[in-house]
Amino acid sequence: MREIVCISAGQCGNQIGYKFWERVSQEHGVEETGLYNGNNDLQLERIDVYYNEGSSGRYVPRSVMVDLEPGVLDSIRASKYRQLFHPDNFIHAQSSASNNWAKGHYSEGAELQQEVLDIVRREVEGCDSLQGFQFTHSIGGGTGSGMGTLLIQKLREEYPDRIFSSFSVFPSVKVSDVVIEPYNATLSIHQLIENVDQCMVIDNEALYNICMKNLKIEHPTYGDLNHIVSVAMSGVTCSMRFPGQLNADLRKLSVNLTPFPRLHFFTVGIAPLYGRGQAQFASKYDVPEILQQAFNPHNMMCAADVSHGKYLTAALAFRGKVSSYEIEKQLLNFQQKNSNRFTEWIPNSMKLSMCDISLEQVPRSAVLISNNTSIQEVFKRINAQYTSMFRRKAFVHWYLDEGMDEMEFNEAEANMNDLVSEYQQYQDSTVDSEEEIDLDQTQATFGERQEKQNKKCNSKQQSNIASSN
Ligand code: GDP
Repeated sequence: MREIVCISAGQCGNQIGYKFWERVSQEHGVEETGLYNGNNDLQLERIDVYYNEGSSGRYVPRSVMVDLEPGVLDSIRASKYRQLFHPDNFIHAQSSASNNWAKGHYSEGAELQQEVLDIVRREVEGCDSLQGFQFTHSIGGGTGSGMGTLLIQKLREEYPDRIFSSFSVFPSVKVSDVVIEPYNATLSIHQLIENVDQCMVIDNEALYNICMKNLKIEHPTYGDLNHIVSVAMSGVTCSMRFPGQLNADLRKLSVNLTPFPRLHFFTVGIAPLYGRGQAQFASKYDVPEILQQAFNPHNMMCAADVSHGKYLTAALAFRGKVSSYEIEKQLLNFQQKNSNRFTEWIPNSMKLSMCDISLEQVPRSAVLISNNTSIQEVFKRINAQYTSMFRRKAFVHWYLDEGMDEMEFNEAEANMNDLVSEYQQYQDSTVDSEEEIDLDQTQATFGERQEKQNKKCNSKQQSNIASSN
């Protein structure tokens, strides 16, 4: 089997990670105890991708949950699904990252990393043929962002040929009022550019807008936001978890969606959208309507208007009993009508995967994972907030106190700005345009930056651990 190891870090990471497991367990007929009680053999056919089969026929999620404080993990251990998870795979400290990326990456998080890596290694050793890692975390806090990206970096060194995928929650002032989030986010994005193969951008700003405008929820809670995230995660992963026509796995997804290594930040669109407990109202849509909605800017989990950019590539994961012929026909139709929204120099830029098992109460649904150049708007939003503070070096001492170098701020910002320019250049280039983009330069910078970053990270962690001993 082609297994995936899931790692969630920090409050947000574990909350959305838990929602993911709750949903996929229901989809695969796995009860709270881990026993199978489903009604369809297809539920078990590829269950090994995400679950270990334990003794006495129990299915145990291949999940490692990490936090620097115990609160969220304690609530998962007290939840309905408490028996589902392997008890050794909850790892926490008694401290906190205090929303400080440097604490997660260099001090508190670095002290806990070995314990986490040991558990992850044990999970990997239990796999026949590991396809990769799936991370859930937020990039605005301290643990998910700082320690999450540290774990990604360390595992990347150890398993360089596996695929690294992340569901990364981007901060929004509409949802959180922590003032240093733009710093944490920029430092994390710098890491995500270098060390993951695919980053599903889950933008809290867009989730909030979806709740307010589409779902008419007056005061959205994290529960409402996380419901949408879990539907998206289920849709993105369904063609890896279930057999079906035109199946996908992590590597195929990467190969199809990533034309250039640094441009791996994806927008996810859901169709149909529905709130918690409202699935029954989402059952009426036919294939053309689902496609329209999946490509609708208001259904995207990024507060970036896809109509301002171009689709470099896209993958549509369709769920429900529909013939692939019908969807392909409708998709072609859609692409022809909207050809100006796709880059002309990548022909056949759309990948389709299909899964017969539909969402509960929703007979037809789809998730669109797209590499759209408009994602630069999200990076620009974060950069505007970052720059206004960094210009006066506001709050920077909190990071320097943890042993960080101010240069790392400059490098992170420069790397994110480079990414924005690259998206813009590819958005502007046409089939006939003379190529001004210096690809060799991009690749060289990528390697050089990575080497420099790794060296710096190792020496800081060592000195931090030494001084704490
Ligand atoms: P950490 O525990 O140090 O990693 O910090 P958090 O995960 O709490 O990170 C703070 C950021 O995550 C802020 O931008 C919050 O708005 C966001 N956040 C925290 N919890 C949730 C959650 O359950 N769902 C969503 N969508 N965002 C969250």
